[in-house]
Amino acid sequence: MTQNPEQIAATVARLRATFLTGRTRPVAWRTAQLHALRAMLTEQGAELAAALHADLGKSEPEAYRTEIDFTVREIDHTLDHLDAWLRPEPAPVPAHLGADATAWTQADPLGVVLVIAPWNYPAQLLLAPLVGALAAGNAVVVKPSELAPATSAALARLLPAHLDTETVAVVEGGVPETTALLAERFDHIFYTGNGTVGRIVMRAAAEHLTPVTLELGGKSPAFVDAGTDLDVVADRLVRGKFLNAGQTCVAPDYVLTDPATAAALEPALAAAVEKVYGPDPRTAPHYSRIVNERHFDRLTALLGSGRVVTGGGSDRAAKYVAPTVLADVDPKAPVMQEEIFGPILPIVTVDGLDEAIAFVTDRDKPLALYVFSASDDTRRRFAAETSSGGLGYGLPLAHLTVPDLPFGGVGESGMGNYHGRWSLETFSHRKAVLDKPLA
Ligand code: NAD
Repeated sequence: MTQNPEQIAATVARLRATFLTGRTRPVAWRTAQLHALRAMLTEQGAELAAALHADLGKSEPEAYRTEIDFTVREIDHTLDHLDAWLRPEPAPVPAHLGADATAWTQADPLGVVLVIAPWNYPAQLLLAPLVGALAAGNAVVVKPSELAPATSAALARLLPAHLDTETVAVVEGGVPETTALLAERFDHIFYTGNGTVGRIVMRAAAEHLTPVTLELGGKSPAFVDAGTDLDVVADRLVRGKFLNAGQTCVAPDYVLTDPATAAALEPALAAAVEKVYGPDPRTAPHYSRIVNERHFDRLTALLGSGRVVTGGGSDRAAKYVAPTVLADVDPKAPVMQEEIFGPILPIVTVDGLDEAIAFVTDRDKPLALYVFSASDDTRRRFAAETSSGGLGYGLPLAHLTVPDLPFGGVGESGMGNYHGRWSLETFSHRKAVLDKPLA
């Protein structure tokens, strides 16, 4: 159910009043909320999985792996470490303050925070930030994506049934509701989605001097070096790219390689698509659908770039776009002008390592960069000479499953990060404390 601006203002005011009572501060409250969220996921996971299937054609195993169980692991990791993360961290004190002075930092809750989620992993990308916000002792408003309506409705039903409704509120809706939310004062806004809306969020936040985390996207390149095992590379690229029909923020957006390697990689990619999705991917139960007609039309317009190696087919009524590999793609082609965010993998050729690195650094800083190379020098050069939110050697996507790694972008791919301890830092204020005894 959506709310009008007055109801939204009242919701935020109610959460703020509760926060000011101190209810969310005790660690016991935080862990109770995390256990309740965990129970929601384990007991009602099937309901969420069904919603994810309705919105994106996501198969049940994939819904559990990439959204439900993913969030359960995030909760377990947080529950295991929260006491340690919340322990005050001592800081060395300079001599001029005397030997009896001590200093430390402590993580303070921020207050009332807003989490705005997108449609592509509509449960995970709402719930994983919520885990961090609760662990840090905040009251939280969550706004699911209206483009994944079944998941939004399921979350709006399930979250209030399991969590403390005086401190966690779900506001459903699209632009009007989000605009009304952004007019309110929050203590932090955590936004996942595209850069255009990211700018709207940041402008609105500036009115209240509210800090923001922006988890955005962009074109994440995959460099494939000469002399690598192309069957292994193709298998990993295909699994990473076509998961959720390519609608993954850290999916390899395009392949960058030299012409000879490209020629050998083409049949390897075609074979890997057939191995993973069978001869007719339309019938593969684990192959997702495009979220809506607008994105379907956007994607099919990109199929004309370059030469089709495999795939290329589509069916608007079924919102199906085949896993597609395009070769001989001109860097000026439409498919190379925007984040693809769908099941289309272009191969762009470059002449050697210097040109590959220049190709990456000439463009916006990506959310992820993948390097498939056995050469230590090549690996080192990408690490030293390029900037990206994350860097994956040999395996796309997987860095974001390492709970102690921060997940986030840089430049156009975003600002700030989260997961595990990094979430606690994002949703806390690290207060500096000095103690000089009076006597
Ligand atoms: P989306 O359309 O669902 O929008 C995201 C949120 O913004 C929604 O909750 C929506 O209601 C809100 N919104 C839309 N227009 C708005 C407006 N004018 N004012 C205020 N709020 C508004 O999702 P999307 O943006 O299409 O998501 C895809 C993008 O997100 C891609 O670029 C992808 O790479 C990126 N993404 C990033 C991550 C990450 O973790 N870094 C994860 C997933 C997706």
